Formats: sequence, structure tokens, C-alpha cells
Amino acid sequence: MALGRAHSVAVTGVDGQIVEIEADIGRGLPGVHLVGLPDTALQESRDRVRAAVTNSGAKWPESRVTLALSPATLPKVGSVYDLALACAVLDAARQVPRKRLEHTVLLGELALDGRLRTVRGVLPAVLAAKNAGWSTAVVPMPALAEAGLVDGIEVLGADRLTAVTDWLQGKGELAAPEPFDAGTVSARGDLSEVVGQPDARWAIEVAAAGAHHLMLTGPPGIGKTMLAQRLPGILPPLSEREALEVTAIHSVAGLLTSDCPLITEAPFIAPHHTSSVSALVGGGSGMAKPGAVSRAHRGILFLDECAEMGTKALEALRTPLEDGEVRIARRDGVACYPARFQLILAANPCPCAPARETDCVCAPTIRRRYLGRLSGPLLDRVDLRIRMKAVATGALMDEVGESTEDVRGRVSAARSAATERWGPYGWRTNAEVPGPALRQRFRLPREAVAPLERLLRKGVVTARGADRALRVAWTLADLAGLDAPGTDQVTTALEFRDRGVG
Ligand SMILES: [Zn+2]
Repeated sequence: MALGRAHSVAVTGVDGQIVEIEADIGRGLPGVHLVGLPDTALQESRDRVRAAVTNSGAKWPESRVTLALSPATLPKVGSVYDLALACAVLDAARQVPRKRLEHTVLLGELALDGRLRTVRGVLPAVLAAKNAGWSTAVVPMPALAEAGLVDGIEVLGADRLTAVTDWLQGKGELAAPEPFDAGTVSARGDLSEVVGQPDARWAIEVAAAGAHHLMLTGPPGIGKTMLAQRLPGILPPLSEREALEVTAIHSVAGLLTSDCPLITEAPFIAPHHTSSVSALVGGGSGMAKPGAVSRAHRGILFLDECAEMGTKALEALRTPLEDGEVRIARRDGVACYPARFQLILAANPCPCAPARETDCVCAPTIRRRYLGRLSGPLLDRVDLRIRMKAVATGALMDEVGESTEDVRGRVSAARSAATERWGPYGWRTNAEVPGPALRQRFRLPREAVAPLERLLRKGVVTARGADRALRVAWTLADLAGLDAPGTDQVTTALEFRDRGVG
């Protein structure tokens, strides 16, 4: 009896765990047996691995081969283990030395002819191997750039099984990742291209500075989308940790390209209003894939025509908005994906969507109901609401808006001020500060909150609405370089609410 061993990584959500693969060549009729592995994908894997080994010029054992993966509780789906399965068998057959094999995790699917194919989630898999103390990871060539982002582990790329066996035998070298320069050039448009709409431009700046959710209402063709698309450009770039977090999700979604392996800018994700629940929050068969809310993690989720969205889709957004993550149970286990995004909603004021509001033909009840259905699940969490109006053509000529770069400077100064103030309490942005903290520990002087308290007493503003106004007031203070909001900031914050719906 001969025993061989190799290692790979199972990825659940964005978490990876080391999988040990044992191959046992025993007496008995030729054949391959998988121990305790019901998954059909693994049965297919067995056939691929055998073909790849023989087509690579190596010898497949002429007796009974038993393969076992452990721990037994892990989801053992997919083809990521192919390379490790092949090397475990070759180890058992004493065709490759152990020296390198026992310090290396192996990732990738094998084609029948022995080529190594890429799989989803290589980045989180390599991160897990690094964290578990492994010194080397071998990955498929197309995933080399992405895997090379992980520091503290040697990462090598291979294009076929023979390249890996040669390397294990000390006969050849595998490819090392190219040093990667993230660059800072954004392909997105500049804020200076948005003409007119000073209120909405200002709202976008306030939203960026305080990380507030924002709703834009107004007639079609007025530039709601154009404005929203320019929000990521005025946000600070992702920190190194955030960039890896975001990139890991996009790796699992299979959306990374080798020429842009690291996501350094806040992502902008704009699902269509007809998107299914699983497209929004994640889903699919086997192990759930991340949805739009997770791809928008640390970035923007833009919902255009949000009043047209189905009730189920709107409801599905509630949990990620509250928890900052989603858990999705599927046949092969529960995947947990982070989903902390800034929500930007855009809607026409009514179903007939006229170019000018005076042209509306909707009955008043229909108008009210149109946006009213958003109020429960979504709108309660939106601090900023802006109603955009059509710009008179004559007004366009003499207005040149500020550039993205100028606005980004102010946003980043305001964000730093907020982080410094809230940091000791564990919050980073004004939008994250809980209501009780705003009303107690960080209570503002009576004269500053006088306009707010007047409205509260009259019942015009709810307690929750008051908290939202206070958060925005802090952001306005940060943008103005003040230590705390005064009457002006509180008044302006309240106007932001009045200008929108609800
Ligand atoms: Zn209408």
C-alpha cells in the first residue's frame, strides 16, 4: 500500500479553508474510489484527473486508487481540487518527490489533455493558504495576477500539469507574478461634465463626505444616472485592506481580469430594476455566488427606476442594508458575503414620467402611491433626498461645474475629520453613527437644534427623521471645516429632507 498527499483550498463565500487530499494505492482491481464524497462534480473530477495524468505522459496506477478529502464537513464542490488530486496520486505512485509538494497548496481545474484551467475565487483561496501558514501556492496562469496580490506567500503560475510535475521534480521553473502597479486613472466621467443642477451636485458631495444613502427624484433624462456614476470618482480610494476585500468578492464572482486584478476604486454597481432577487443579493445552484449588493461592497449600489422594482426585490435589500452582509443557503452550504454599500436611488416622480412636472397626467393618488411603496424597506435609511428639476436651456451656457478632483479634495478632508472624531467609538463615517449617540454624547447646543426641535414638536419630523437630519448636519459641518454643526447646518440638513419625497 502506498499513500500520497496534497493540499488545496475550499472557498465558501469569501472564506477559504485548507483541504487535505489523500491518495491510497491499494491491492485490488484497477479503479478509482472516492471516500465519502457524494458530489457528482467530484465524480467528474475523478475522470478528468485520470485522463489528464495519462495524457500528460505520467502513469496512472494499475490497481485500486482511493481518494479522500478532509475535513469531511467542507463543501467539496467544483473543480478547484483537480490539480491537487492528480499530484496526490502521483505522490502515492512515487512519481513526484515530496520536498516541494508538502509545503504547497495546489489550485486549478484540469482539462482532459492536461492543461490547467482557472477557477473562481483564487484570491480568497491564496489568502486562506497564507493565513494558514503555507509557504507556496500554485495557481492557473490566468489567475496569477490576482493571486500575486497576496503578500507573504510565494505564488506561482502554471499552464499545465506537466509544468507542475516538472517543478515538483526540480526540473523547471513556474511563472512568478509581475509586479503590479495599481495606477489611479479612472475611466469614469468627470463631475465638470454635469451641467446645471447645483443642488444635486451639492447633494452628491454631501453624500460622498458622510457616506449617506441618497435618493434623486426627477423627470427622465435630467442627468440622475450621469451624476450617480460620478460619485465613485469623488470618494477616497479604497484602503489596501478594503481593496483586497472587494477584489476577493469579485474573484469569487469570476469578474476579475488579469490586466486589472486589483480593485482600488469604490465599485459602481447598477443592477436593472427588473433584476431577480438572486441577481441582487446572490444565489445560483451549488454554492451561492455573490449578487449586486456584494459586488457593490465598499462602493455604490445604484438603483435606477427604483419605484419600478418588484416588492420582493425591495424586501431583499433590507437585510444587507441592516447587517452589511448576506447569508445564502444552497445545496452545498451557506455562503456569507459582505455587502456594505452606499445606496443611491433614482426615480421618476410618477408613472407617466413627463419631461416637465407640469405635464404630468397621473391622478394625485397614483402619484403618491408611486414613491410611497419605497418608504418602508428603503427610504427610511436614506438620509439625503433631492428633487431635480429640468434645467432651462438658457441657463446651461455660462455654467461650468467644478471638476471631480476639486470636489474629491473637500470630500476627503471632511471624511478625515469624521474618522478622527468617531474613530475612538468604532465608526468611520457620519452615516454610521447611531441615533442615541447623536442625541446624548454628541448632543448639540440648544440653539443649534432649535429648528429641529420646533419641527419635532409640531410632528412634521419623526424621531428617526431627526436623527437623519443630525447625521447630515455633521457632514455639512465637516465640509465647512467646523468642529460641530450650528443652526445653519441643522437648517440646511432639514431642507435636504424637504426637497425630496416623504
Ligand atoms: Zn405623472
